[in-house]
Amino acid sequence: MREFVYIGQPARVVFGVGALQHLEREIELLGAERALVLCTPQQKDQAHEVAARLGARCVGVFDQAVMHVPIDTARAAREQAKRLNADCALAVGGGSTTGLGKAIALESSLPILAIPTTYAGSEMTPIYGITEAGLKKTGRDARVLPKTVIYDPTLTLGLPAALSATSGMNAIAHAVEGLYAQDANPITSVLAQEGIRALARGLPRVVSDPSDLEGRSECLYGAWLCGSVLGSVGMALHHKLCHTLGGSFNLPHAETHTVVLPHAIAYNRIAAPQAMRLAAEALGADDAARGLYELARRLRAPDSLRDIGMRESDVPRAVDLAMLSPYYNPRPLEPAAIRKLLDNAYHGREPA
Ligand code: NAD
Repeated sequence: MREFVYIGQPARVVFGVGALQHLEREIELLGAERALVLCTPQQKDQAHEVAARLGARCVGVFDQAVMHVPIDTARAAREQAKRLNADCALAVGGGSTTGLGKAIALESSLPILAIPTTYAGSEMTPIYGITEAGLKKTGRDARVLPKTVIYDPTLTLGLPAALSATSGMNAIAHAVEGLYAQDANPITSVLAQEGIRALARGLPRVVSDPSDLEGRSECLYGAWLCGSVLGSVGMALHHKLCHTLGGSFNLPHAETHTVVLPHAIAYNRIAAPQAMRLAAEALGADDAARGLYELARRLRAPDSLRDIGMRESDVPRAVDLAMLSPYYNPRPLEPAAIRKLLDNAYHGREPA
């Protein structure tokens, strides 16, 4: 076995159906007495229910979280936290809400307690992103990693089947790219495989019956593991492409990951045979790219960039942007092959 460095993220995780009942204990363990609850406008009711559990230990609810953390939203939330003298940010929601908590923590070092309700995995990473003047700047900072994460599958029951499918594929993307990361190690690869396996088992159950709590538990467990992989090792072509497509063409985050994933994996197929074997095994397929494509179809998830709002005339610019600023990928970036990849993804063809 070759030498490696494993960076375990130091969050405390409380997992299980009904785990939310431990919220007060967890807030106490953090030493917090004045939590500010964060959520999107769509999850206001859920957030108020969480706030009600805390009674006097909750000083307010900021319900304006939106995708990609616009700087104005971050400023408004930071001001509210300061004004209310909050000593903890409690994020109830998906990656957008956790992202807002991170924007607050980045400036104030407030501890974050995250209660994830999607499978995006942001709660397991020290990665933050803030959008200013149309540009999303991302970075890593230990201060933004949540101190405590409560995974309660009952809170994901309201996540619609379509969103569950794409959010789950987003999680799988972290794990599959983690398998061929430059800094991959045996521990992250075990986490990645187990995460893929759990989601590949759980997602079809959740999509056919969103109230299937066992299926929901499998998915949330898988999302946790996949998020840990994202937090521990570097990502490659797939994440770069999705970041570019989301940022420059305003495409929806989880849907973009879902459409691009089989194609990006097919692109890297020959350059990363060991990772492909592990991913295929976890998916229960003969080939990783084909297995991902078939899983997405089975989940009735979108399969073309055209269907999620991209214009065909933007494909050449997307290729140029993907070629900018060199980054690690197991297969070198070849403009003609990237063009082919994006054409296939645009039209919803099977992966090459
Ligand atoms: P999201 O947080 O934007 O949620 C999508 C929608 O679903 C929102 O309206 C939300 O309120 C709603 N929703 C969430 N959970 C629900 C539930 N259980 N029931 C009903 N509705 C629910 O989407 P997301 O995909 O979780 O997050 C995407 C964002 O997270 C992107 O900005 C992405 O860049 C970021 N992200 C960051 C990291 C990181 O490590 N920093 C990792 C993954 C994603």
